Order: sequence, then structure tokens, then C-alpha cells
Amino acid sequence: AKSRGRDRYVVFDRKMHDRSLAIMQVEKDLRLAIEREEFCLHYQPIVSLINGEIVGFEALVRWNHPQRGLVSPAEFIPIAEETGLIASMSWWIFQAACCQLREWQLRFPYYRSLTMSINLSGQQLEQLGMVERLDRILQEVGVEASSIKLEITETSLKETPALVTTLHQLKAMGFQLAIDDFGTGYSSLSRLHQFPIDTLKIDRSFINQMSRDPKGLAIVEAIVILAQHTHITTISEGIETIAQLEQLQTLNCEFGQGYLFSKPLDSNAAYTLLAQNVTP
Ligand code: C2E
Ligand code: CA
Ligand code: CA
Ligand code: CA
Repeated sequence: AKSRGRDRYVVFDRKMHDRSLAIMQVEKDLRLAIEREEFCLHYQPIVSLINGEIVGFEALVRWNHPQRGLVSPAEFIPIAEETGLIASMSWWIFQAACCQLREWQLRFPYYRSLTMSINLSGQQLEQLGMVERLDRILQEVGVEASSIKLEITETSLKETPALVTTLHQLKAMGFQLAIDDFGTGYSSLSRLHQFPIDTLKIDRSFINQMSRDPKGLAIVEAIVILAQHTHITTISEGIETIAQLEQLQTLNCEFGQGYLFSKPLDSNAAYTLLAQNVTP
């Protein structure tokens, strides 16, 4: 038994070792990728569930790896966070998403109230001088803060006075603030009022459960009702079926995104989609 225990330990250890090697490799690649500007953004439409109009896009980062092709952010964002590389990536993302929005607003006056949703990492929120830096980028690009929606995951919403202050500063500058993946973190609903939030994004896992499980439906309903009472809008993530869409319409959820409407699109495809809608 003893020797088996030792074997098991060896196997475990080797897996750990392999994992750290893999992480180190990705970290090395990521550093190069930042230098070589191998990142690009894809854009997923956010639509009104009432009339189907596109109200905005969420910018989602992609890594165009020279050997591996497009790499999912689920694979490299956690490593970028662990290694601190997320900071420089995030500034590039913010700037690129603002430039894209500016271009579309100029090209399509019809869509002048289009918003761009941008994911902020927890680390970025804690960076000193981040509010000023965001402001500078807006000025340079010529985009209004009110057309940018900053998405902050529920898990990175810490109750520290510094973070609460930062969020109020962002709000005062005119940014819209959204809590991302709502329902998956540990924040209780009663904590919400501390944060100047405009939008709750209901996590895909609840939308997914909704049609199969009455409990799932009850959770989504509770979130939508809570939001309505506090003048917060709701966006449902990951809508894939007509059945889900109809349930959400019945619950009066206002906005949604998901493969039913569109997958995230590259810049050209998003442009084509906007152009189609303007000139039917
Ligand atoms: P997220 O912010 O919750 O983004 C939504 C994810 O759900 C995206 O995955 C999107 O492609 C996917 N999705 C949208 N509709 C559907 C659907 O109908 N069905 C399914 N199964 N999936 C759907 P993606 O692009 O792979 O991004 C994964 C996560 O990586 C994001 O989750 C976000 O946490 C992170 N991420 C992506 N871009 C950025 C970024 O620019 N900055 C930061 N900090 N994180 C990012
Ligand atoms: Ca998001
Ligand atoms: Ca989300
Ligand atoms: Ca998510």
C-alpha cells in the first residue's frame, strides 16, 4: 500500500509539473503575442428582446496564434491574469474596442446610440490611475463614456472601499456598468445596492437550465424582477433556442445575446450585419 501511495504521489507530481510547464509555455507565447500584436476582437450583437434591434456589441478577445489559429480566451485569460500580463492586454482591448465603436458610429448614423460592452479584469479595476487612463483613451478616440458598458464579473466585485470608490468614479464619468455572469458568484442580492450598477447579465448557465428545470426558470424570474424594482436592465447571455427567447420575453427580460441571434463576429462580418439592417 505504501509503495502504491508513493506511485500515486509521483504521478500527481508529474501532472503538476506538466501543468506548470504548459502554463510557462503559454506565458512565454503571450509575451511574444503582445509584442507582435496577435490579438484581435470579435463582436457579439446584443439585441432587444422586444423588437430584435441590435443595441450594441460585446467585444471578445481572440488570440490569433501563428501555429494554433484562433485560441479561446477561456484558455489564455486565466493565465494572463495569473501572470499579470492581463494589464497590458486589457488596455489594448479597451482602446481597440473604442476605435471600432467610433468607426461604426460615424459610418452608421442610424446606430448612433450603439453601445460597446467591454470586459474589465479584476486586476485592471485595482490598477492605480485606471480611471484617468480610461478617460484619456476616450478623449483620444472621440467616444462618449455613456456609449461604453464596462462588464465586471460578479467574482471580481470585492466589497473593498477602494473598489466601491472606483466604480462610483467610473459611473460619474458616464460609463455604464454591468455585472457579468450574474448569479455565479457569491454576492448576495442585498449587496448590490452598494454598487452603481446599470445592468445585470444573467449567466448562461441559468438560461441553459431554464427550459429543463422549473428552479432555473424561477431563478431567472427572480433576477429580472429584482432588477426591475431597482431600475437595472437585464441582458440574458447564451440564448440558443426559440423556446428560451419566448420564456425570456414572457419574463420581460429586455436584452439578450446568444447563438440564436449571432455568434461573435469578426469586424468585417459585424460591419456587414450593421449595413444590412440599415439598408434592408
Ligand atoms: P463572457 O464575458 O461571459 O463572454 C460570453 C462568452 O459566451 C463568450 O465566450 C461568447 O462567445 C460565449 N457565448 C455567447 N453566446 C453563446 C451561446 O449562445 N452559447 C454558448 N455556448 N456560448 C455563447 P468567449 O468569447 O470564448 O469568452 C469567454 C470568456 O473569456 C468571457 O466570458 C470572458 O470572461 C473572457 N473574455 C473574453 N474577452 C475578454 C476580454 O476582452 N477581456 C477580459 N478580461 N476577459 C475576456
Ligand atoms: Ca462578458
Ligand atoms: Ca458573461
Ligand atoms: Ca462567462
